[in-house]
Amino acid sequence: MYELSARAREIRERLLGFMHEVVEPGERDYLAAIAQPGQRWEIPPVMEEMKRKARSAGLWNLFLPDSRNGAGLSNLDYAPMAEIMGRSLIAPEVFNCSAPDTGNMEVLHLYGNEFQKRQWLEPLLAGDIRSGYAMTEPDVASSDATNIRCRILRDGDHYRISGRKWWTSGAMDPRCKFFIVMGQTDPEAKPHARQSMVIVPRDAPGVRILRPLQLFGFDDAPNGHAEVAFEDARVPLGNLIYGEGKGFEIAQSRLGPGRVHHCMRLIGLAERAIEAMVARAKSRIVFGQPIARHGMAQEAIALSRCEIEQARLLTLSTAQALDKQGTRGARDRVSMIKIVVPRMACQVIDRAIQIHGGAGLCEDSFLSHAYAGARSLRIADGPDEVHIMTLAKMECSRGEG
Ligand SMILES: Cc1cc2nc3c(=O)[nH]c(=O)nc-3n(C[C@H](O)[C@H](O)[C@H](O)COP(=O)(O)OP(=O)(O)OC[C@H]3O[C@@H](n4cnc5c(N)ncnc54)[C@H](O)[C@@H]3O)c2cc1C
Repeated sequence: MYELSARAREIRERLLGFMHEVVEPGERDYLAAIAQPGQRWEIPPVMEEMKRKARSAGLWNLFLPDSRNGAGLSNLDYAPMAEIMGRSLIAPEVFNCSAPDTGNMEVLHLYGNEFQKRQWLEPLLAGDIRSGYAMTEPDVASSDATNIRCRILRDGDHYRISGRKWWTSGAMDPRCKFFIVMGQTDPEAKPHARQSMVIVPRDAPGVRILRPLQLFGFDDAPNGHAEVAFEDARVPLGNLIYGEGKGFEIAQSRLGPGRVHHCMRLIGLAERAIEAMVARAKSRIVFGQPIARHGMAQEAIALSRCEIEQARLLTLSTAQALDKQGTRGARDRVSMIKIVVPRMACQVIDRAIQIHGGAGLCEDSFLSHAYAGARSLRIADGPDEVHIMTLAKMECSRGEG
């Protein structure tokens, strides 16, 4: 029903081979390296080696539909690639397809001026630097972006930025060179025209990383998530993206493809979880027979398979809608997958944990970290309730003039 193009099928085959030959062994080295004392926030050399190999194999920037800078794949063609990458916590970075860089590259590609593209987009596309997206604030309910309070004040030939952000993913990474910061340029304007986005170099005076945040105790090193203070940080006027008052508009278009990517990666993670669930259920004997022969475990396995397939079909149809109707036209579907897929992944991973018993809860298995990641996506990129509200409003206004 959702046919891949011949080119996407060919890339997919090579991607699968690369995952098996390079990423799977590389991931073991990577995790061992950051577990060494004092190495938590250093980038293991194996990551840059894997990136070099992926780039020379042409498995690079696959997410970007623009064929000059990216692979030129449609969202529908890219979706199965994101699913494959989502099986591993580090694979998206190997192919330069990881958040928040992908969203930031899309923003700069669509809205950046020539200088911003040269200075920031090109090194991101090359995988030479990384970046952060600083919108959420500890002091206000940031799922309603009109609440954002950070000030971006024009002062002669500069902007001065003052505010506090948190959950800025990637901010701890030593290669992170800039943030795209959302803040108010005109508090008196209409709510959706108050916000703007500006590029703030990470080493600009007045930018302070306050602390790394932990997600259920996982620090997600060496990229991390941080609380960041902007204390009268000054940047040239040329660092403003697109125009004053355009922050809300940029945020909306940034999140369309990004949400599809997140959902496809979660489907990959859920696939890995069901594989682990089945392997464990077949190999472990309880009350005289393998767990897999007990009816309750069979229900867990069968329901997980149904739910993964349902979620994948909905996500592929969303990717196709994005290709055909653009972010605006696909808004209802994007909200649907953002409601359905993280819940599905949590449910499937939770069942896999249950079937593993104590082994599913400890650091010997990937499942607890996978659960934390899936659970965070019921909040990150807009909590469930916001998407439910959006979808219900669209449904209720259907047919109204
Ligand atoms: C792992 C992770 C990574 C993240 N990365 C980034 C990043 O890189 N950059 C960034 O800027 N942010 C990032 N975030 C932050 C994330 O996007 C925000 O946490 C999210 O948008 C919610 O904002 P908030 O935390 O202020 O929650 P609030 O806005 O305070 O909302 C709290 C709760 O209110 C409820 N609620 C909200 N609206 C409604 C409604 N209409 N009806 C009923 N209930 C409602 C929901 O239950 C919601 O969870 C990340 C978060 C996590 C966990």
